[in-house]
Amino acid sequence: MLNRDKSEKQKHISSYYKIENGKLKRLLPICDRCGPGYFMADHGNRYTCGHCGFTKYKAVKNSSEKNSKERIYSSD
Ligand SMILES: [Zn+2]
Repeated sequence: MLNRDKSEKQKHISSYYKIENGKLKRLLPICDRCGPGYFMADHGNRYTCGHCGFTKYKAVKNSSEKNSKERIYSSD
């Protein structure tokens, strides 16, 4: 039970960053309220700050918005 693998924790930390072309790239957005250093956790369709609880919804690009344009109301 005490023989916990540290790699599990390291894996969690490294998921905040990604090395791309030798540069460190942030994978998670920074909290708008808390500022730099406070990363928001990925919760699928949204990001949540574990510090202040601020929730930011991901911009979802779906085609359903296009279909709504077809609903044109005639003023004549
Ligand atoms: Zn925050």
